[in-house]
Amino acid sequence: MSTLSAKGLRKSFGGVVAVDGADLDLHEGRINGLIGPNGSGKTTLFNIVTGMIKADSGTVRLGGTEVTGWSPHRIAHAGLGRTFQLCRVFPRLTVMENMLVSLRRPRLRDILGGLTSKADVEVAMGWLERVGLDHLAGTDARDLSYGQQKLLELAAVLMADPQLILLDEPAGGVNPALIDRIGDLVRDLNAEGRTFLIVEHNMAMVMSLCQHIIVFDRGRPIAAGPPAEIQSDPRVLEAYLGV
Ligand code: ADP
Repeated sequence: MSTLSAKGLRKSFGGVVAVDGADLDLHEGRINGLIGPNGSGKTTLFNIVTGMIKADSGTVRLGGTEVTGWSPHRIAHAGLGRTFQLCRVFPRLTVMENMLVSLRRPRLRDILGGLTSKADVEVAMGWLERVGLDHLAGTDARDLSYGQQKLLELAAVLMADPQLILLDEPAGGVNPALIDRIGDLVRDLNAEGRTFLIVEHNMAMVMSLCQHIIVFDRGRPIAAGPPAEIQSDPRVLEAYLGV
């Protein structure tokens, strides 16, 4: 079954057409990559399918349900999680507090006042162990390295147990050792049945991690296929190199 599909998405900002009648079809259980030159519309597409911005036209379906126009919160609730290009964590909250805030959006006062259930803390600790941050549970997020903050953001997304996860430049600004750890984690989570869509400029990571790659140029997909095919596709070379 198609886990995420979009038909005819279009979005303009003033006179700039960011997404130009794009279709998207993600199959369940794959690690999908979304690549393309700067300004080709990848982030706008991410923002449309996660409900952050509304498309001028077109439809988005998640599983069997049409989610066009739904709020980001409702879409997240339906099983779609995402991370951001510029990592979003609460710098003055501890690692554990960040995890609990993401869970049910309870009032901060309740978390800081210790009204969170023991079960929630255990689930949060389980995910922190998975990403290798359990020993930092009591540390303020602002004291983590940027790569660790990205792992925290992913762990917080996992609290909602999403079946489809969109990662916006997971390797950006991250040191090579942590890039490897993020890649291993994505592979493990995928082996458990989670589907990924990853926007990433680090081609080594994209080509080694993704099973299916979609190439965007000027607001729409121009090619899609396995890494070996994409790397030698003349349309892709043209989009990147302008040859
Ligand atoms: P990518 O993620 O592939 O780099 P974007 O989706 O960020 O591409 O941008 C696609 C085009 O839309 C670019 O020309 C960009 O300048 C424009 N754009 C994106 N967001 C906005 C915005 N909020 N306001 C105006 N123009 C925008």
